[in-house]
Amino acid sequence: MSVAAPPITKLPNYINGQWTDSRATEWRDVTNPATGEALAQIPLADANEINQAVEAAAAAFPEWRRTPPEDRIQPLFKLKMLLEEHLDSIARIITQENGKTLAEAKAEMRRAIENVEVACGIPTMMQGYNLEDVARGIDEFMIRQPLGVVAAITPFNFPGMIPFWFLPYAIATGNTFVLKPSERVPLTMRYAFELLEQTGIPKGVVNLINGSKAAVDALLDHPKIRAISFVGSTPVAKYVYARAAANGKRAQCQGGAKNHVIILPDADMSMATQIISDSAFGCAGQRCLAVSVAVTVGEAQKTFRDSIADAASRLKVGNGLDEGVQMGPVITPQSKDRVESLIGLGEKQGAKVLLDGRGTKISKYEKGNFVNPTILDGVPASSELTDTEIFGPVLSLVHANTLDEGLAFLERSAYGNQASLFTSSGSAARRFRYEAPAGNIGINIGVAAPMAYFPFSGWKNSFFGDLHGQGRDSIEFYTDKKVVVERWAKEHSRKF
Ligand code: NAD
Repeated sequence: MSVAAPPITKLPNYINGQWTDSRATEWRDVTNPATGEALAQIPLADANEINQAVEAAAAAFPEWRRTPPEDRIQPLFKLKMLLEEHLDSIARIITQENGKTLAEAKAEMRRAIENVEVACGIPTMMQGYNLEDVARGIDEFMIRQPLGVVAAITPFNFPGMIPFWFLPYAIATGNTFVLKPSERVPLTMRYAFELLEQTGIPKGVVNLINGSKAAVDALLDHPKIRAISFVGSTPVAKYVYARAAANGKRAQCQGGAKNHVIILPDADMSMATQIISDSAFGCAGQRCLAVSVAVTVGEAQKTFRDSIADAASRLKVGNGLDEGVQMGPVITPQSKDRVESLIGLGEKQGAKVLLDGRGTKISKYEKGNFVNPTILDGVPASSELTDTEIFGPVLSLVHANTLDEGLAFLERSAYGNQASLFTSSGSAARRFRYEAPAGNIGINIGVAAPMAYFPFSGWKNSFFGDLHGQGRDSIEFYTDKKVVVERWAKEHSRKF
């Protein structure tokens, strides 16, 4: 089956199984960060449009909830096949609106598909438990029931994957769903919802609404929404968590990051360099699991500093759609300015700029938001950069004399999304796994992204809530537990 491809001028919303033109009074351009060209216009929905989407989801809920889990997962099997079939097209859209390379966009979609596959296991994963004879002749059961209408609010950096951390689990467990993707990258989900439409999913079960802060506030305040999933920057994550909770909603809010990697002198230095370079500069550093600070221990300092500077300087930067390009632009001109001024701040506060990506111009793409890989050496602990999420292709190098001192950098960080160690020592690795204060740990891994059947963890200011996205946590998040204690008098069965 073919799907209409962009360019699309004015993006509609998807409400109650219909592509619906928005009546929004405010519209924004969606821009290709590599070329600066406008790809589409996005409406910024107000509370009325949000209400329409939520009412559609609420109306669809009773019937969807009664649909057997085995039947609820059938559209997801179809969706998996459609996503596979259209993977190249959807990846091109990701590259066009987000800027990452085509290979990165395809890898992202593999992770999206993985979540669809895992959610197809709901008939098993959603099961409760029971015990006969909790007292004589009395049995007890725990059953899981869907919540009702749930919503997700997602960021710009993984337009294809992050909505799928939530959507498949939410609907497979019997909820109905409203998605508000990032207003900077709405085209990927527009395409994904065209595929969803082809799966035969009943109207109102999934809804897509475009907007920004006003739309988010309307979702947070809507009385018919039971749960909110959020991924984005820490200040907004905190705000969403507080407002959702104040309105009595369940919330899981993933925030920003400042990820550390520690390199011990016994690490395989060439492997560590390659992997850390991919982690720090892949997706132009706009991954919440990107390594941002490399802590070298002892003799690792000199070898790593030289080898990472060499690897980073050889990366080919450009339009992610072009052959051979290894790193794309950052998302907006404002983002480029912010990243460049943070490099300047680091320099002013005592770091040496080992590799300077400021002022990058790529021929044919003069309007692109390019920042070449940048390395700051010796960022002092007193620098504001120490705890600032840069979210661009900038790696800070700091030094420690021992693993203890290295771990102290992680302890001091306000974030705890990911921490990694490079070593060939099993006992150092065990100690790191045991003590590192972060939710996702990598041992000789640069981007420790949990597979879909594990929770996407995150600690400290990187996560607000208790149940994470993906895997079993998702099932817990999207269901209410009901406990039934049951007694039947013996005499009744004797009648038959
Ligand atoms: P963002 O916080 O600007 O936006 C995220 C979402 O919130 C968008 O849908 C946006 O429309 C909405 N939003 C923005 N400002 C708002 C406001 N004031 N009130 C209500 N809603 C608002 O984040 P972003 O720039 O799109 O994404 C990058 C950030 O996301 C980085 O900080 C990155 O670390 C983080 N991130 C975290 C994870 C994780 O798993 N922890 C994953 C991906 C990205």
